[in-house]
Amino acid sequence: MAALTTGYAIDLHTHSLRSDGALSPADLVKRAAARGVRIQALSDHDTLAGVAEAVATGAAVGVRIIPATELNTESEWGDAHVLGYFIDPEDLELEERLRWLRENRGRRIELMVEKLNALGYAVELSRVLEIAQGGALGRPHLAQALFEKGYVPSYDDAFDTLIAKDSPAYVARVGLDPFEAVTLVRKHGGVPSLAHPGTVIGLDELLPKLVAAGLAGIEAYYGEHSPEMTARCLARAGEHDLVPTGGSDFHGRGDHGTDLGGVFVPPETIEHLESRRQAA
Ligand code: AMP
Ligand code: ZN
Ligand code: FE
Ligand code: FE
Repeated sequence: MAALTTGYAIDLHTHSLRSDGALSPADLVKRAAARGVRIQALSDHDTLAGVAEAVATGAAVGVRIIPATELNTESEWGDAHVLGYFIDPEDLELEERLRWLRENRGRRIELMVEKLNALGYAVELSRVLEIAQGGALGRPHLAQALFEKGYVPSYDDAFDTLIAKDSPAYVARVGLDPFEAVTLVRKHGGVPSLAHPGTVIGLDELLPKLVAAGLAGIEAYYGEHSPEMTARCLARAGEHDLVPTGGSDFHGRGDHGTDLGGVFVPPETIEHLESRRQAA
């Protein structure tokens, strides 16, 4: 592997093709290692299916893998996604709940394909499923299929036009609200952190309510945060006794987001997160 070290040592937000990332868990971890990452959370949406492969590769290339999942939610609070850390991939009761969320993801993408078809965009569900390679379905797979067909000039462009929230083809998620997501993570012994708070509508109102439900962290360090947003998150972390977390949210598709290890996360973060385990 290339001795290419350009990233920071900790990345607590990454996606593989077990959800809507482009790389296998093994390739994702190898890429992280090559960029200097030493502790990585695999946080695929609504699944822990990639954790075993990531842990095996991590053992070989010197990356400690923290099992995690990102729960996307639907509510009046905008995109309030919840990262759950230190979750047990063998927890069957949790897996049952995650499977329900994945089924809802699939149905939602099916509905979006139907709507796109009705609008004259001849994208095929079978191709979308092929792109997903069995991973938890999401709009990124749809975006890629639309790009392949030439309906959008770039992968990223699809999110601003055909599959944007205000587009006629958009279908809302059926799933958890942010409180249910935090509660689910806690119930299964995980440590919940609020992902990319910049996409939340009404952050200052939401935070104390989520803290009451068991929220333990806030993703203060994030590629798309301005220095002001990071400072605001750190201030909220202080007020509510939350652990500031951070990560790249790397998907490896399009130009969206930051590369692995692309966001500085303080070394003490892991210890602080671990201290918030227990207390279900
Ligand atoms: P979904 O959960 O199916 O609504 O898809 C959300 C995912 O789409 C996020 O995890 C991002 O990876 C991706 N995404 C959302 N907005 C954009 C955007 N503007 N450009 C590129 N990717 C995006
Ligand atoms: Zn994603
Ligand atoms: Fe997210
Ligand atoms: Fe994410």
